[in-house]
Amino acid sequence: MSKDIPSLYGSLVFTDKVMRDKLPKDMYKALKKTIENGTHLELDVANSVAVAMKEWAVENGATHFTHWFQPMTGYTAEKHDSFISPTGDGEVIMDFSGKELVKGEPDASSFPSGGLRATFEARGYTAWDPTSPAFIKDQTLYIPTAFCSYNGEALDKKTPLLRAMEALSTEAVKVLHLLGNTAVTGVNTTVGPEQEYFLVDKAAYRARRDLLFCGRTLLGAPAPKGQEMEDHYFGVLKPRVAAYMHDLDEELWKLGVPAKTKHNEVAPAQHELAPVFDTANVAVDHNQLTMEVMKKVADKHDLACLLHEKPFEGINGSGKHNNWSIITNTGSNLLDPGKTPAENTQFLVFLTAVIKAVDDYADLMRISAATPGNDHRLGANEAPPAIVSMFLGDELTAILQAIENDTYFSGQHRVQLDIGAHVLPHFFKDNTDRNRTSPFAFTGNKFEFRMLGSGQSVAGPNTVLNTAVAEVLSQFYDELKDTPADQMESAVHEWIKKTVKAHKRIIFNGNGYTDEWVEEAEKRGLFNLKSTPEALPQFIAEKNVDLFLKHHIFTKEEIHSRYEILLENYVKTIQLESKTMQEMLSKDFLPAVSRFAGEVSKSVLDKKALLPSIKAEKELALVESLTAAYETLSEGNDKLKALTEEVSSMESMQEAATFCHDKVLALMDELRAVADEAETRIPEKELPYPTYDQLLFSV
Ligand code: ADP
Ligand code: MG
Repeated sequence: MSKDIPSLYGSLVFTDKVMRDKLPKDMYKALKKTIENGTHLELDVANSVAVAMKEWAVENGATHFTHWFQPMTGYTAEKHDSFISPTGDGEVIMDFSGKELVKGEPDASSFPSGGLRATFEARGYTAWDPTSPAFIKDQTLYIPTAFCSYNGEALDKKTPLLRAMEALSTEAVKVLHLLGNTAVTGVNTTVGPEQEYFLVDKAAYRARRDLLFCGRTLLGAPAPKGQEMEDHYFGVLKPRVAAYMHDLDEELWKLGVPAKTKHNEVAPAQHELAPVFDTANVAVDHNQLTMEVMKKVADKHDLACLLHEKPFEGINGSGKHNNWSIITNTGSNLLDPGKTPAENTQFLVFLTAVIKAVDDYADLMRISAATPGNDHRLGANEAPPAIVSMFLGDELTAILQAIENDTYFSGQHRVQLDIGAHVLPHFFKDNTDRNRTSPFAFTGNKFEFRMLGSGQSVAGPNTVLNTAVAEVLSQFYDELKDTPADQMESAVHEWIKKTVKAHKRIIFNGNGYTDEWVEEAEKRGLFNLKSTPEALPQFIAEKNVDLFLKHHIFTKEEIHSRYEILLENYVKTIQLESKTMQEMLSKDFLPAVSRFAGEVSKSVLDKKALLPSIKAEKELALVESLTAAYETLSEGNDKLKALTEEVSSMESMQEAATFCHDKVLALMDELRAVADEAETRIPEKELPYPTYDQLLFSV
């Protein structure tokens, strides 16, 4: 039976249509004004919206509401309150007020605050974000909110993003007005995140402590087959996977998440889902929901969905491509080259601004994708390198070169270059989308930031990107604002020329996976921040603090608290992984090694008793090698325990993080190599947990 998808779509969302139907006309108009212009919401409007929301929610089976927010854990948080309100006569009514809609007061003391908690009260506030629609999930009305401390310090990922979207809008409008495009009064950031994930059998998943606790395997020899046959990418969906994806789409559609494409990815058991792009903060909320629903639907299908960046050694990990552009409130995409000269100038200004922004703040971009999980990917010949660079494609690069050198652009059409206006022939999107190794690629009418990890929130990267571009636009405005109208064209041209010249080092159209690029990047003076602990100090570098302060994205306290939170998260993650590995070795793997070595020894003794002349050299060598591995792992495990304990006593978080990376992780890698080698000598049935064969090929 075919389903009516258009009716299903958004059926659990408090959509614009529902609002229009349920709200008095004047209230609806006032709310729209708030959403579109960010104006203050009056209490009577809030009350009216609350009544409509509750009515709609109750009609759709909801009994509770929750403020839904995104603390620094990277996950979402919720605390449910029922709508019931006792009437004093033993009965209740379903009640919900404007005040409850607009503001919540969760205790902030148990969320990461990086020191803000010590200085301020434990109380936190959640404030309704009317620009992201409310929805119903599991009989609760979810109200998207921002989360801050008693004194208004941001404790979440959404607040800075909203601030950065506003900063970009402010600066972009100033620039557009300067360029004569006065119809625009605001711009929005659009984001479409492509989400990669793995699906494994639930029983196999549950049988491994590492997957259960850490989301990635800490031990495990490779399966005979990996991704070398290149048969999985875009391959036929297996029935169980197809059924899962079908269910997932429907669940997401109900929640108004526009899931659009789905396919098998490069590694075995790896897949991808991409939605249609949306406004950045809605896209962030939707991506959080997508990750959550992916896990939930997997569970229903007896599967486990892994969102970790590197669940398995030896095959690709998972990332998230953050497609990003800027759209005006008059509906034009500022990163679309367009067809007319005026659009071209505008396009070139914004393109150049992005180039400068990425070059000036490459370190922040890198940090925005720095997580312990993603450290296993970036620079590992499967994902973009840890070096931030930009891919523009041959045609755009040639155009910029022509501007820089005051020469002709000799593309398909030879075009006279006056002021950058007549330079740009309409070119085709597909020309630009070939380089998959670039961290930041122009793909026709948007940029694709490809460094992000699969499990992370996309709020941080878009906060950085928006702020950096806002800053360059603000510089552009300051430089050109007093230029007489008749000199504007040439002044713009000069600015583009000068800026391209100064920042072209960030443009790299070649293969980002090669060692030559690493050398070349070093010559160009680009950052190569290889790991999270190495990258994070740049977060508090003076130029970056200045940037955030200038655009009111973070206060100084917020910056330092975030730096601490990121470090702490890194340290805790590595400690957790280390402890899990210790447990797997001592409780699971080492006993199995010993048992099997003992069995073989016994069998050799039996055989020798029967036939004294037997040498059994191979079996004895096996016993010997397994015993040697046992010794090495056993000693190594003690050392790992000691190192991990040492971390806890360190006062400086930065020192602890660096130690975790250089010492703890390094030892874990060494131990893993020994264990994985030993694993290949032990029969499957003797192993204490499912192998890579079972994990990757069981669905
Ligand atoms: P790929 O070839 O990398 O798979 P697609 O062309 O399928 O890329 O698009 C990937 C994502 O880019 C989708 O989520 C799509 O909605 C999004 N996207 C397209 N245009 C824009 C835009 N202007 N701004 C932001 N995201 C966009
Ligand atoms: Mg992509």
